[in-house]
Amino acid sequence: MTETNDLHRLKTLAKRYARANRIPQHQALDLIAGKLGFPNWVKLISATKNGWEIDAEKIKGVEAFSRGALPAVTFLKGDPEAMNRRFEYLEQAEHGTIGGHAYRLQEVMGDVIIAGEGWSIRVPENPSAIPVVETYTNPELNCPVLEPEFLQRALRLATDRAGLVRAEISTDWPRRSTKPDLNGVVRHPLGRGESDVWFCLHCDGKITGRQIAETLWHCPGCGASPLDIFETAFWCEDEGKSFLPVKIGTVGQDKPEVQIVDGRPKLDLDEEKITLLMRSALLDDATNVSEKLGALLAEISVDDENDVFIALEVDLWPEDKEPVQALAVSKLLGLETDFVSSWSTIPFAWPGLGEMTLSTSEYTQMMLDAYAQYGGLPDRNAKKE
Ligand SMILES: [Zn+2]
Repeated sequence: MTETNDLHRLKTLAKRYARANRIPQHQALDLIAGKLGFPNWVKLISATKNGWEIDAEKIKGVEAFSRGALPAVTFLKGDPEAMNRRFEYLEQAEHGTIGGHAYRLQEVMGDVIIAGEGWSIRVPENPSAIPVVETYTNPELNCPVLEPEFLQRALRLATDRAGLVRAEISTDWPRRSTKPDLNGVVRHPLGRGESDVWFCLHCDGKITGRQIAETLWHCPGCGASPLDIFETAFWCEDEGKSFLPVKIGTVGQDKPEVQIVDGRPKLDLDEEKITLLMRSALLDDATNVSEKLGALLAEISVDDENDVFIALEVDLWPEDKEPVQALAVSKLLGLETDFVSSWSTIPFAWPGLGEMTLSTSEYTQMMLDAYAQYGGLPDRNAKKE
């Protein structure tokens, strides 16, 4: 009965291939028959009835073929042998070179990233999203990824791999998730029911079953993930009846092939960063623990024009002490900085103790001793908060 078992095996492989590539099963059966040298599946069946036996080696070839599932269009255009070689090449393409430039290719959470010295390309899991090319070098220096031929080759490697990754995803999902029925009804891959209309929580778009299957359950408008796609717009009073059909991002034809981004670090001097630098400079100026506490507790604010205002606690920071380092940093950043003294509650009594040392552990010991000798008992009621 090996023949039957082999046929069964082939059918299973065809099913897997059909699902991965989102094509009808009969088409996958024909493709597999083609791999075994038959014009179509029907011819293969009649041959087995006439005693033809499938050789084990060939089954292995078919297995490899269905594992390396690529979109059927690509396959249909190419010669199967060439495609097989390509699959093998892809399997080992984790590290390689293009025109003498080394690269590594990897999958990260469904996205595919190919990267080399000073550049990377990310092909998102969402098939309708535009790949992002990032450069990390001065554009004057020739970054290989900015050469059209290199870019095409690197992009091809990454998009081919992304095809495999997406095929894996489709294989894991119910078939109805990627293959709408005649009425355009599809099943949510995370078990949120079946419908021909879906709603995006992220952009309030109304999406057809065919559209959402096509983009592997990413919103065709805003790219939100399958987690944000729902059968009813429960967050809206009319459950989405008023929602407009989703606008397909940057409408089809004139969509750029890639988005090129300068990935080099850019300095964005916001209030948080200015405050951090100024506080660090105040710590440089501090010559004892008291002043260190003063620097740590200083109230630093930055206004809309990036002018800085620093209030220093008078018991911790002597009124006549000039914050030399802080002024230097302020000058480097081109900021106008004002210092004022303030009076508020300080954390520990006897601030003079902090002026006697630069070591926090030494200060802590003195402070504990002083509290033990001169301090009152802790307030028990206030203790439990
Ligand atoms: Zn959306």
